[in-house]
Amino acid sequence: MLNEDDSDSGPGKAAARFGDHLHRHSKSPALGSAFEPAILPTSVYALPRAPEGAFQYGRWSNPGWTALEEHLGALEQGAAAIFPSGSAAIAALFASILRPGDRLLLQSDGYMGTRTTAQRYFASQGVSVETCSTRELAARPLDGLRLVLLESPSNPGLDLVDIGDCARRVHAGGGLLVIDNTLMTPLGQQPLDLGADATVYSDTKLINGHSDAVFGHVCARRPELIAGVQEWRRVCGAIPGPFETWMVQRGLETLELRVARMHANALALAQALQDQRGVRALCYPGLAGHPQHALASAQMSGYGSMLGLTLADQATAERFVDECRYLRACTSFGGVHSSAERRAQDAAG
Ligand code: PLP
Repeated sequence: MLNEDDSDSGPGKAAARFGDHLHRHSKSPALGSAFEPAILPTSVYALPRAPEGAFQYGRWSNPGWTALEEHLGALEQGAAAIFPSGSAAIAALFASILRPGDRLLLQSDGYMGTRTTAQRYFASQGVSVETCSTRELAARPLDGLRLVLLESPSNPGLDLVDIGDCARRVHAGGGLLVIDNTLMTPLGQQPLDLGADATVYSDTKLINGHSDAVFGHVCARRPELIAGVQEWRRVCGAIPGPFETWMVQRGLETLELRVARMHANALALAQALQDQRGVRALCYPGLAGHPQHALASAQMSGYGSMLGLTLADQATAERFVDECRYLRACTSFGGVHSSAERRAQDAAG
């Protein structure tokens, strides 16, 4: 299922590296110490005399954050900064990078909340917020942009971005490329290996994976990008709680098993559904008929866990979601239960 190669990079190797990382962390513990990181709910740390050291105030640092950030960073051979939601992670990137006069490019068909954040809070600060559909990206000039934030596959249309090509074009024009890798996770796609400057995630979805916490993170290899979002978090206070941090830490340890099963299930479902009477259109990058199947095979490992299904009309779609015994009707994804949503309802308001 995983499109592995022999190199040291790529998503196939990320799982092995992560396994090594977890193993190394549990080696040579002090006698009687716990293997797992503790949940430390504190706002203060002891500071006799001059304040110094890594832990001084609860808004600045927490040992649980450090443990989770090390794991998340190891997945992409970078450094990570965690946030109380994917949206907070995206806002931190915008706030730490964008200045008045800068141009920001987003997908017009990507996750709607990202555009809302940019248009409502950054356009009024003098940032020019531009949008382009995923399909038009290849033909669109990408020079002169300060920041380009893209999803691949896009949520919900499942169109792909050629990440390597975009990274080259954005860099040639002097900008930064960030990939929202929520749908694939680092085990399904390694945007930093393909040339992106940073990745951002809604860990609410697959990384936590149990539909019981809202969370997010940014990962990058260039220290100044991570320092920027950490400073925003420290100053503005968008910090994750210690308990949620621990929940994501625990979810992460089974990510590889969950992702492999989700990809296999999605592919099997897509293959079974594509010939069903009543299915008007089926979108899944793992099907040979997907217009970007070759790109998906080249830049992803597995083809993701989300399918797009078009049925005859609204009533049929609603009946399918309501009556399919394996589906939960809800607006999120990436947990251990299958879920579905009639997306056209968003367009209708
Ligand atoms: N990015 C993508 C692709 C998403 O689907 C979502 C939420 O659905 C977000 C970011 C925002 O994440 P959160 O809901 O954790 O704030």
